[in-house]
Amino acid sequence: MWIHGWGELPGRLFVVSGPSGSGKTTVLRLALERPGVHARLSVSATSRPPRPGEVAGREYIFLSPEEFARIRDAGQLLEWASYNGNLYGTPAAPVFEALQRGERIVLEIETQGAMQVRDRAPTARFIFIDTPDFDTLAQRLRARATETDEQVHQRLVTARHERDLAHCYDVRIINDDLNRAADELASILRAG
Ligand code: ADP
Ligand code: 5GP
Repeated sequence: MWIHGWGELPGRLFVVSGPSGSGKTTVLRLALERPGVHARLSVSATSRPPRPGEVAGREYIFLSPEEFARIRDAGQLLEWASYNGNLYGTPAAPVFEALQRGERIVLEIETQGAMQVRDRAPTARFIFIDTPDFDTLAQRLRARATETDEQVHQRLVTARHERDLAHCYDVRIINDDLNRAADELASILRAG
């Protein structure tokens, strides 16, 4: 299945990226609860195992690498990427149908996938969330304590590459003060 015409749909597509630990999830959750924000997150598929507290179908659709490859090879993903050894992708049909209904949909995805969306849906709005500096990123990742030291190290190496693509985004939000960052994102999601 290859869907054409993403740019001509009545809804609005937003792509939010940023290094792991920059606070994307936290800022987005707050922004989506701000008054007047009528947008919702797309649920991605991933081959990574669930973290404690994550619920299948809510945070992610959790698949085996084989199941992921099957839906990817059947053309069912709007974009996909391999990130730190795991596969991640956006199921195309639910997003397309929501945009057809005029909804506002947010993809929280890494940079390789975001560049694929830019090719297929150039009218989407691209937002990059970052920390004020690299040390803050390292501190937040270690404090979150959801990855091993080796995984944190890998995410920090990846973060440097992700930053190199920040200039491809329409807006860069620095997540130092959480509430201010959420307000900034909320105003983008309202306006589109
Ligand atoms: P991401 O989704 O980008 O990987 P998270 O939203 O999980 O990042 O945030 C990483 C960690 O940083 C979490 O423990 C979160 O509570 C914390 N955090 C997020 N934003 C801020 C902020 N503005 N100030 C301090 N800590 C923050
Ligand atoms: P995490 O394992 O921390 O949940 O996510 C790791 C990275 O994968 C994050 O940068 C997140 O934004 C990204 N990600 C989540 N879902 C998708 C997706 O569907 N496609 C792509 N390309 N990246 C995703």
